[in-house]
Amino acid sequence: MKTLGLHWFRRDLRVSGNNAFIAQMTRHEGRVVGLFTFDRQFLSRPDISHNRFQFFLETLAVLREELRSAGSDLLVLDLQPDAAFKALKNLLPANLDVTVSWNRDYEPFARRRDEMVTNTLESLGWQATIFRDHLLFEPGEILSKTGTPYKVFTPFSHAWLKELSESSARRLQESKLPANLRPAISWRDILREKIPTDALNQFIEYNRAKVTIPIPKAGPEAAMEKLKSFAHIVDHYVQDRDILDRDGTSDLSMFLKNGSITITQIINHLGLLNTRPTPGKVAFLRQLIWREFYFHILWHWPHSETESFNPKYRDLPWENNQEMFSAWTSGKTGYPVVDAAMRQLAATGRMHNRARMIVASFLTKDLLIDWRWGERWFMNQLLDGDLAANNGGWQWAAST
Ligand code: FAD
Repeated sequence: MKTLGLHWFRRDLRVSGNNAFIAQMTRHEGRVVGLFTFDRQFLSRPDISHNRFQFFLETLAVLREELRSAGSDLLVLDLQPDAAFKALKNLLPANLDVTVSWNRDYEPFARRRDEMVTNTLESLGWQATIFRDHLLFEPGEILSKTGTPYKVFTPFSHAWLKELSESSARRLQESKLPANLRPAISWRDILREKIPTDALNQFIEYNRAKVTIPIPKAGPEAAMEKLKSFAHIVDHYVQDRDILDRDGTSDLSMFLKNGSITITQIINHLGLLNTRPTPGKVAFLRQLIWREFYFHILWHWPHSETESFNPKYRDLPWENNQEMFSAWTSGKTGYPVVDAAMRQLAATGRMHNRARMIVASFLTKDLLIDWRWGERWFMNQLLDGDLAANNGGWQWAAST
């Protein structure tokens, strides 16, 4: 064996339509293995949710099965990415020609990490190839006529839709694994007795004891089941998505976050770009554009991760009453809709979008508590907790 493709999984936990992974499979004629790395320091992050982490780990376990049945494999290392690549360099045969691939991530932390890893790989003599997967349009691709990024959603969504109508055939194409490509290769084949300890099962065991809610079925198949059942009701989305006690939305956010499913697959499956989409489909596509919008905002204005997007509101005199905050988190404010939503969050890790807007507005505009307190609490609780959408949702609700 002279060449090897190493695909670094992050937020793209699936094989189907995974551009970077499939490109590697073609390039290396099937000699591709997957890698996932995080070190346990991650577990002490203040915004950790053990429930979300469990869902993530179970998604990884499904991915490993999926990879194995596609003739590949996955190794999960309890190391920082930088250290993981260096360790693998030492373990792999010196004459092996390795290319490393990944799909882009847009969070400030991920950008710093990826820059560091790119430098490390260069020093190791391994070529990095990087692809688009998580978004349909990446930051920098949707700009105003003067070349500046949009700060406001509606013009952004118009520009996004225009770009898509001009390039939909290319944009929405899903890469496929070449049918004749099936040489099976495992990490054990490559590293033999030098194979490092795989951390996935250890993490699953460690974390399981900390889980407080039922964890939904994870992985691309579960996501596709959700999508298929949503296809029956998408035409009622305009009305039903406003009703808190109805299952009128897709419930796909936690799968989108991990890349078990992509916006491309959703648009294609639901036919959202059909010549005459129903109002339900138009409204649903608009929500998917909100998701992209907040990734673009975070990319162009990374400071919004920690402070008000609008500088005018950086020094608001929040009252930050700890007792009121506790009443809010525990669903004991005395306002039934707020309390119901907060208790649902604690019991299920989910909350309806309209309820998120209500409780966020209540916390910031009635209790006068800093939106960052609420944002953090959501990250501790939500199964779909995702920096861009959560930060965007909170800053939108707080009007900052
Ligand atoms: P659907 O109504 O079926 O929408 C389809 C998809 O569109 C969603 O899965 C999601 O990816 C995207 N989407 C929908 N609404 C929004 C929106 N307002 N902003 C961005 N993307 C959207 N979404 C997250 O994924 N993670 C978060 O951490 C998160 N935190 C939020 C915090 C607040 C305060 C608010 C107001 C909204 C937040 N949202 C977040 C957005 C939204 O509430 C959820 O995406 C949605 O409720 C998920 O349910 P669904 O998949 O059934 O949505």
